[in-house]
Amino acid sequence: MITPSSAGKTTLLALVTLFIAVLDSAVGGGDGHEWGYDDHNGPKKWAGTCKSGLFQSPIDLKQSISHLRNFEPLVFFLYDKPANVTMKNNGHTLKLTFEQSCVAQMAGGGLPAAFSLAQIHFHWGSEHTLNGRRYPLEAHFVHYNHKRYDSLGAAVGKEDGLAVLGVFYEESSEEADNGIVDKLLEHLARVSDEGAEFKMTSKMRAEELFPEDIDKFFRYRGSLTTPECNEGVLWTVLEKTVPISSAQVYMIKSFPRQIFACKSSNTTSLSGFEVYLWQ
Ligand SMILES: [Zn+2]
Repeated sequence: MITPSSAGKTTLLALVTLFIAVLDSAVGGGDGHEWGYDDHNGPKKWAGTCKSGLFQSPIDLKQSISHLRNFEPLVFFLYDKPANVTMKNNGHTLKLTFEQSCVAQMAGGGLPAAFSLAQIHFHWGSEHTLNGRRYPLEAHFVHYNHKRYDSLGAAVGKEDGLAVLGVFYEESSEEADNGIVDKLLEHLARVSDEGAEFKMTSKMRAEELFPEDIDKFFRYRGSLTTPECNEGVLWTVLEKTVPISSAQVYMIKSFPRQIFACKSSNTTSLSGFEVYLWQ
């Protein structure tokens, strides 16, 4: 029999259960992620915009189908300033956050505003491809339009909200290890467990992750490459790659599965995409 008191308890229990469920999904905790890169929860199983969106990233970038543009260069503010960096394994990727009193920004290069750097993360096996070629590593520098939105979260899904910079890392025939990648690899074991964080012992400049030449880049409007796959993201992908040694590629590939993952490029249906190549 349901009495007022037991009905109240039932409602309270339901609310508590709902609260735990919401908290769980918000932090990606629980006994497994709702999404991942395995067969049962990988990109082919992602729902919503990930499945139905018309402008889903990543894509295969090709010079031959890009519209050539020759505008002002990209400008980076405070990317050259040494900052304390925290590495984190968030269960999906290796994420770097920079502690700076003034936040680094990306502007110019045809972008409609200056965008603030929120975080940098990596995909082990590049997500974008260049003329069909996949590189061993791709870094994503995630920026948001700070003049219009208070936070990265508030900017997600807005037409003018997010600008992401993609940088490819390419296996080089020269044996020299890339210094900054070495620095990351050196500490990666400390964050092999999901949720683990490590504050790097020496400061780092965000521009250290760039190739020498940043003059040429692809620009198109696409999406986030992880659920909810929100569209409206302004992508800038540098054409030049950063060389890394074969030993570094080997080390990258030996790290845990959950941070060795990517969404495959959309190579079949690029109709509707406007891809520009700045040069
Ligand atoms: Zn990414």
